[in-house]
Formats: sequence, C-alpha cells, structure tokens
Amino acid sequence: MQAATELSRDLVLVGGGHSHVLALRMLAMRPIEGLRITLVSPDCHTPYSGMLPGLIAGHYSFEQAHIDLARLCQWAGVRFIAAEVTALDPLARRLSLAGRPALGYDVVSIDIGSQPELDSVPGARAYATPVKPVAGLWQRWQELHSRVIAREGTQALRIVVVGGGAGSVELALAMSHRLRGQRVAMDLWCAAPVILQTYNARARRAVLAALHSQDIRVHVSARVAAVEAACLVLADGARAAYDELFWCTGAAAAPWIAASGLATDQDGFLAVRDTLQALHDDRVYGAGDIATQVKHPRPKAGVYAVRQGPVLAHNLRAALLEKPLRQHRPQQRFLSLLSLGDKQATADRGPFSATGNWVWRWKDQIDQTFMARFADLPEHMSRTAGDKLPELARVAPQAVCGGCGAKVGADALSSALSALGKQFPQHCAGAGDDAVAVPAPLGATVVQSVDMLRQMVSDPWQMGRIAANHALSDLYACGARPVSALAAVTLPYASAQLLQRELEQLLAGALHEFAAADCQLSGGHSMQGPELNIGFVVNGVPMSRDGKLLRKTGAASGDQLVLTKPLGTGTLFAAHMQLAADGRDLRAALSSMLQSNGIAAELALAHAATACTDITGFGLLGHLLEMLGGTLGARLELAQLPLLPGAVEQIQAGIMSTMHAANVRSAGQFLQAGPAVDEATKQMLFDPQTSGGLLIALPAGRALALCDALHQAGYAAARIIGEVTALPPGRAAPVQASQVSGN
Ligand SMILES: Cc1cc2nc3c(=O)[nH]c(=O)nc-3n(C[C@H](O)[C@H](O)[C@H](O)COP(=O)(O)OP(=O)(O)OC[C@H]3O[C@@H](n4cnc5c(N)ncnc54)[C@H](O)[C@@H]3O)c2cc1C
Repeated sequence: MQAATELSRDLVLVGGGHSHVLALRMLAMRPIEGLRITLVSPDCHTPYSGMLPGLIAGHYSFEQAHIDLARLCQWAGVRFIAAEVTALDPLARRLSLAGRPALGYDVVSIDIGSQPELDSVPGARAYATPVKPVAGLWQRWQELHSRVIAREGTQALRIVVVGGGAGSVELALAMSHRLRGQRVAMDLWCAAPVILQTYNARARRAVLAALHSQDIRVHVSARVAAVEAACLVLADGARAAYDELFWCTGAAAAPWIAASGLATDQDGFLAVRDTLQALHDDRVYGAGDIATQVKHPRPKAGVYAVRQGPVLAHNLRAALLEKPLRQHRPQQRFLSLLSLGDKQATADRGPFSATGNWVWRWKDQIDQTFMARFADLPEHMSRTAGDKLPELARVAPQAVCGGCGAKVGADALSSALSALGKQFPQHCAGAGDDAVAVPAPLGATVVQSVDMLRQMVSDPWQMGRIAANHALSDLYACGARPVSALAAVTLPYASAQLLQRELEQLLAGALHEFAAADCQLSGGHSMQGPELNIGFVVNGVPMSRDGKLLRKTGAASGDQLVLTKPLGTGTLFAAHMQLAADGRDLRAALSSMLQSNGIAAELALAHAATACTDITGFGLLGHLLEMLGGTLGARLELAQLPLLPGAVEQIQAGIMSTMHAANVRSAGQFLQAGPAVDEATKQMLFDPQTSGGLLIALPAGRALALCDALHQAGYAAARIIGEVTALPPGRAAPVQASQVSGN
C-alpha cells in the first residue's frame, strides 16, 4: 500500500502568450498539489513581441526571440499539447481542438493574442501575409529574404506594409535594414492622417526621419479598400503595385471567442473583470490581447499582457485554493521603445521622447532580461511541497493498493470505450466483456505481440498514438496485418473525472492509429499507479495472400540492409528530460515515431526481404545482431545512417538514454569501428528507439528499388546503410563500421 497524491482538478491554459508563460513559471515555482495543468498552443515556440523586429532585422536568432514552450512545460511539470483551440463550450467545460479530440477543463485561461484584421478588406486574406501568427510571418520573411538575395536583374522588388501603428513601422524598418544594399523599394500605407497616432510629436518626427533615411515611402490618409494579386486598390480609386505585401492593421479577435457565448466587447474580444475572470463565468480567465478589461480598456500591446501575468497566476491560484482574488489596474500609459531597424530606438512616454543607440541598448537589456527568465529556469519546489487543493487538505491522502484495488473504476474505462465506440464504430468495440473473440480469417495464422511504454510525451493523445504505433510495429516487422488490440493502461492516481478525461485522450490517440490500420480495439484493462504506462496486445494475420511472414533471421551474405526511419529518439527524449532538447527537434522525433511501419512492411514483402525487424529498445546494433543470429556478419556505412535533427549534438553533449549504457555493454563487443568513424555517430547505433523504423535485409539487386518505393511512400529518410557478410574469420567482431564521409 502506498500514499497517493491524487490529481483532482484540470487547469487548461489556452495559448502560450506573454501572460501565460509568466503565470506558468510562477505556478511552477509553488505548485498546487492535486492540480493538473495543461498548456495548449499550436507551435512549440512562442515569440516574444519585443524582439520580433530585432529578429527580422537580424539582431537576434530565432532561439533568442522565442520561448520554447515544450521545454518550459517539461520544467514546470505541465502537459504540453501542440494544437489550436477552435471552440469553447463553457457549459460542458470543453475545448475543441483542430484535428484531435476535445479537451475537458475545470478552469480555463485564454491568452491567444490577436491577429491583424483582414476580412474587412476584400482580397487581403488571399494575398497579404499577416504579421500574426508570427510563425507564418517568419516563414514568409525567410523565403522573401532568400529570394531577394538570389535575385538578378535591375528592377527593384516592391515590398509593401499596410498599417500605421508601432508594429508596422518597426516591421518596415527592420525589413529595410536587413535588405540594405539589395534592390528593394518599400512603402508604408496608412489609413490615418499620421502614423503612430498615440505617440507624441517628437517621437513621431524621429521615427519619420528614420523611415525617410531608409527610403521607405510613407503614404498617409491612404485607406486600402481592396487587394488584388499584385496591386492595392485605394479608397480614392488609385492603384499601387506591390510584389510582396505584409498586413499589420488593427487587432481582431479569434471568432470562436464570441461563438462560445461568453460576453465580449464590441470587437469580439473576451470581456473580463479586473480579476481577469470572464464577465459571467468564474471558471474562464482571459489575459493579453484577446481579453478586454471592461472597466479599464487599453490598447493591444505586449506590455499589458506581461503586467497581467503575475495577477493571473495569483488569481488562478487563489481561485483554486478558495482565497480572495486580486483586482488588476492596468497602467494608463506605458513606455514604448520602438526599434528603428539599425540598433537605434525611439522612446515614447507621455510628453517624453528620446532617440539613439543608447535607447536601443536600454530596450535590448529589458528584452534580454525578460527572456533570461525562460532560458535559465531555476529549481522549483516538488509537486508535493506546495499548496494543496481544498478538498485534499481536508481529506487524508488515500491509501492505494498495488493489486486489483488499483484498478481504475470500471465506469471510467467503459465510458471512455463507449464514447469512443460512437466516434470509431468500425474500430472500437465499446465497453465489452473481459475476454473477446479475435477476428481472424478462417485458417489463418494469428500473430500476437505485446509492447508497453512509460510516458515519454506529456500530451496523452500523442502518447496513445505513439504506444499504438510502437505495438503495431512488432506485427509489421513480421509481415502481419493488425486485426485486433487490447489495451493495458496504468494511469497516475487521479479523481474519477480526471481519469476518464485522460483515458479518453489516450485511447482516442490509440484509436486514431488503429483505425488507420483497420484494427479493432476490443477492450482492455486499466489501473492506477504512480506513473503513466500504456501498452497493447496486438493480433494480426499475414499481409501476403500466400500466408508468408517476414522473419527476423533468414538474411544471407551479400544482402543489403535498409533502414526505413531515422535514429535518435532515445537521446532526444533523454535531453528533453534534462531540458536540453529543442522543441523543433522533439517535433521531428514525434512525427517520425508516429509514422506507421505498415506500408514499409508491405514494400519489404513485395521486394523479397529475407529478414526484417523493428528497431526499438536495443538500438540498431542490438536488433541487427539478433538478425545476424550469430552466424553472419555485417558491414555498416555510418555516413548513410538516417539521423533525427539534433540527435548527434545531444550525444556529443553526453546526453544519452538510460538504456544506452546497457546496450553498449551487451552489444559493444560485437562492433569494430574503423579509424575514420566519428564517435558520436557510432554511439547512435546504441541509441534505444521508440516506435523506430524497420531494418530490412534483401538481395542486393532489389535494395535500390525498395529505397525508391519507400521514398515515394513517404519514408523520406530510408537509406541503404550496409550489407550482410559472412562471419569474419577468427575473433573479429561480426559488425564492422566505416564512415566514408561525415553525415
Ligand atoms: C512587429 C510587432 C512588434 C511589436 N512590438 C511590441 C513591443 O515592442 N511592445 C509591445 O508591448 N507590444 C508589441 N507588439 C504587440 C504585441 O505583439 C502583442 O500585443 C502581444 O504579443 C500580445 O501578447 P499576448 O500574450 O496577448 O499574445 P501573443 O504574444 O500573440 O501569444 C499568443 C499565443 O497564443 C497562441 N495561439 C494563438 N491562437 C491560438 C489558439 N486558437 N489556440 C491555442 N493557442 C493559440 C499563439 O501561437 C501564441 O503562442 C508588437 C507587435 C508586432 C506585430
């Protein structure tokens, strides 16, 4: 028996905006026992608005100007879901997410920013690049930058920015600075009679001087009425040509805010009280651009979002602990530090204004100090050392058995399966008996396998997908087509409602994969424990009509070896645990793990594979040795190893999965590496994989055709990595590795 910390409440933060990253950091420093926090945001990196112009101008790198949300959440012990919220149902307390199942909450906070208003001008949405989302702007800007640099000819490329506020002016100046010396012409089109309407005259003059000195033509009182493919149509009927168009006009709110039925201001922004709670719903909070404090409306600017962060953190904590909430009074005026492209900046506050290089350095220092809070994450208190949710404070910690008493209540599993049965009628049997009949064609051989994983990503839907894919890989490596599966899940101790939410996400993720493989989830078993474990028993029948299966052994000397997916998941997720991984590398690893081996197995059969295995915990070398069966050798060309981005760098930094050393101990003696072999690349042979690729041996004459077919089927990383040999004579190691050129 053990004392359990039970999770009993879900706080969901929607959007990785300025207020949320600050609130998240503060909540993590003093955790609330029993509270599960989830952050939902589409990208693993969120931009810091103050550094956005500096990023475009080339003063900052992408990493300096962005906060890695995956890393922040890993540090904070918060679930990170990379997804976009598309609807909110405050009555059902559910959030709809694009392309994946809805998410339940007890308390929700929204900090999703705003986007330029595009819909009132016909053609703007079709032809302009909005300045937000920043991910889209950044991609378009990089493409434009490369295009301008590579461009030949004498005619200047016309870049146009529509807008007249601080963001558009900074954007135009930053672009112009970065493209200095290139053949470009820039225009700023502003509907108002002056740019920077809310700034003092001195600041405005300084900014106008900077615009003129960079040859940026400023057009005021010039409202854009329509946009055509390469031309702006102005309200007075005039037309102005452009080659590239950026849109940075007044902020608009995501339409799902108003569609939720929650009170909004006249522009569709969430109306909040000074506690940052929605007007008529205490469970909904809003901060940053998306929220309007009805008693103290302010312009949409990042400084207000930053100031709201600590109040939001305080009020979320206070509300959950049933303590008094704080009222937030936003400042009337704020210091605006506007960068002028070339490490000059203009300061504006009330009647005060100053311009110069020192102002830029001042701004740079403020921005760097803000970002340092997320780069250097401090030690925080353990999850059980902070405040306790009220009901947990009253009730002594539950004693939970390790045996059948740890089972998740039958209701949670059966209601999760029943709900999913409606969503996946062909592939989810719903709540059923303890034992099930396995559907299989008459007389067919049934192949059975089981595989389990510990939690490696915090997003339960993705975790369910990975676990299902990982289990199905065993069948594919045998050349079997999956027909049915049974789940075995251990869920962290939680209240019945949270258990059910977690199970639904996990099983919906698994069903996403099972449905794609036309495999039925027949039922399962769930229990509670200190950490999440999920696995599946999977049953399959031969893919080929003649009943032929693929075998692990059976390769012959002279066969070539093809690897279908890149290596590196072990080291990358070990790095994630240590907060050393980049969210973009983790995303690449995730999509590799989610790529099914099903079609690769069909192609292996069609190309007369002599042996096949999937790469999992023993790493490439361990699984290759199983394939060689002690009677054969192999030559590997390490320059050909497909590797995930960032993996070699993590190994070079000494970060390895816990199984890595065991793999080296058991398989290292069977490897002989040539003198030119790079040590980090060699270590990739021992890196344990989750849902790794297939290693396929096949006659030499067929390997290139298999690789071509794999590439066409979407296995972009598939490569011939070596060949099977006779066992080298004497005491030489069976596997010889060389590296002809660096990878
Ligand atoms: C070029 C430029 C320069 C600027 N410079 C400054 C400046 O120097 N100072 C200043 O005060 N302001 C500046 N601003 C304004 C500033 O960008 C915004 O006011 C600020 O970013 C608002 O912060 P926020 O927290 O509301 O949201 P954001 O910072 O916009 O963050 C929103 C987050 O939510 C995520 N998200 C969006 N939609 C969804 C969804 N549906 N579901 C889940 N997640 C979602 C986004 O991906 C993002 O991570 C500038 C703006 C521009 C365009």
